[in-house]
Amino acid sequence: MDTMLKTHDKLGFLQPFNGLSDKFGILSSPGFQSQQYIRFNLKKNRLKSANKCGYSTKASSSSLLELVPETKRENLDFELPVYDPSKGLVVDLAVVGGGPAGLAVAQQVSEAGLSVCSIDPSPKLIWPNNYGVWVDEFEAMDLLDCLDTTWSGAVVFINDHSKKNLGRPYGRVNRKHLKSKMLQKCISNGVKFHQAKVIKVIHEESKSLLICSDGVTIQASVVLDATGFARCLVQYDKPYNPGYQVAYGILAEVEEHPFDVDKMVFMDWRDSHLNDYKDLKERNQKIPTFLYAMPFSSNRIFLEETSLVARPGLAMKDIQDRMVARLKHLGIKVKAIEEDEHCVIPMGGPLPVLPQRVVGIGGTAGMVHPSTGYMVARTLAAAPIVANSIVNYLGSDKGLLGNELSARVWGDLWPIKRRRQREFFCFGMDILLKLDLPGTRRFFNAFFDLEPHYWHGFLSSRLFLPELLFFGLSLFSHASNTSRIEIMSKGTLPLVNMISNLVQDSDP
Ligand SMILES: Cc1cc2nc3c(=O)[nH]c(=O)nc-3n(C[C@H](O)[C@H](O)[C@H](O)COP(=O)(O)OP(=O)(O)OC[C@H]3O[C@@H](n4cnc5c(N)ncnc54)[C@H](O)[C@@H]3O)c2cc1C
Repeated sequence: MDTMLKTHDKLGFLQPFNGLSDKFGILSSPGFQSQQYIRFNLKKNRLKSANKCGYSTKASSSSLLELVPETKRENLDFELPVYDPSKGLVVDLAVVGGGPAGLAVAQQVSEAGLSVCSIDPSPKLIWPNNYGVWVDEFEAMDLLDCLDTTWSGAVVFINDHSKKNLGRPYGRVNRKHLKSKMLQKCISNGVKFHQAKVIKVIHEESKSLLICSDGVTIQASVVLDATGFARCLVQYDKPYNPGYQVAYGILAEVEEHPFDVDKMVFMDWRDSHLNDYKDLKERNQKIPTFLYAMPFSSNRIFLEETSLVARPGLAMKDIQDRMVARLKHLGIKVKAIEEDEHCVIPMGGPLPVLPQRVVGIGGTAGMVHPSTGYMVARTLAAAPIVANSIVNYLGSDKGLLGNELSARVWGDLWPIKRRRQREFFCFGMDILLKLDLPGTRRFFNAFFDLEPHYWHGFLSSRLFLPELLFFGLSLFSHASNTSRIEIMSKGTLPLVNMISNLVQDSDP
């Protein structure tokens, strides 16, 4: 099969920046991979003090955006061994994409002695996204050293009168350290690096040829697509109809903020900051956004206004305007912005064709949690499964190649129990898509009242059917009567869809 690539086109809205929303209704954003690279065209008056900019009575994001610093691209100081195309060697594994998913597999496959080539346009660049995870997820993978800040717990503001304390520690990933650690191991395991974009793949019976943007061809027995939401090589055969999590985040120096520095703010659903902004308030009633915040100190904080999931996704400008109104209401005066992120995460939607010749992991392989948008911990936990699978099937005793090998790897990544779990999470997403602000509040009020085993397990993809059904029943029993009626009325169709998909999906 000769797969022509349409890199950057698959989501439809990856157009030149500043191009306004297309059919998805989202401001074009490079947030998928490089949200820090391209900025709004506000180069003058950078780093003005917030007092000077002031907050006008109109909640407009423009004064906040003027504080966004010039584009910063920080590279790691590594000498990467380069792939030598002149030798014409066929590597065991070519990993396309050097995000957390790709590097984790490259590291682990090379550890077993197989030859690996990692291809990425910016292999030394520190990953741009600000990743948050539950501490227990990283502890289970022995990665605690890759968290730079931890909070003993988290808080959820349901509304102005109700707040939940979550006794589950949360952490921010030290992406510089995590990437350095992975690169270091890759280098010592003999991984070779090629700095380019893959633009095309051609499959032969026992090997594949990757054509890169610089004209170089890399031959590999197995190709792993780890290009995140760009979904570069992996094929989909069903209409791609995900929900979108859209968020705008800033790492800021502020005069002060009202949050406890020992707790991160997982969700703040309060909306009194919109009382003076009728339009924003109405829109927030229909498609609500919440504040996600990581307070690092009394005057340094990561603040992210987030639309949990919507279809089409919310416009970035709307989110930024809501954020400005919220910060003003909370008395948070931003003095300077260290970095900002435009986050657009496709959630749910169909899985890629299973199986197919190119194998995948991470964003490209449908691994984002359809109800939450989280993925880093789940992907890092899945990397050994994919790596072991490649090593075992490619290894001498089995000696599988081509389509047969890929089919086994896909089978290990997406076994029936994981597919069923994802179907249930997509059902969760379908309900969330239908909830307005009061409904969303009722939902999370019940959700965080569940036994920790259930809500931890749901958020961290640790629950499987039939336990997920107990989770559903438990959620229903904790819900208020209004919420139950709402779940029944809005959840019936998604439930029927889920059951139908579950019945249709079985292992051959
Ligand atoms: C702004 C943002 C914040 C997020 N925050 C969180 C969070 O807090 N917690 C969480 O769990 N998840 C989070 N996610 C979701 C998800 O975990 C991340 O998107 C994660 O980076 C995905 O990892 P990945 O390795 O699959 O893809 P990516 O990190 O996107 O890496 C893909 C790599 O592939 C490269 N690439 C793309 N096309 C090609 C090509 N044609 N040839 C070669 N290389 C190519 C890119 O340059 C990039 O280096 C966030 C996502 C975004 C966008």
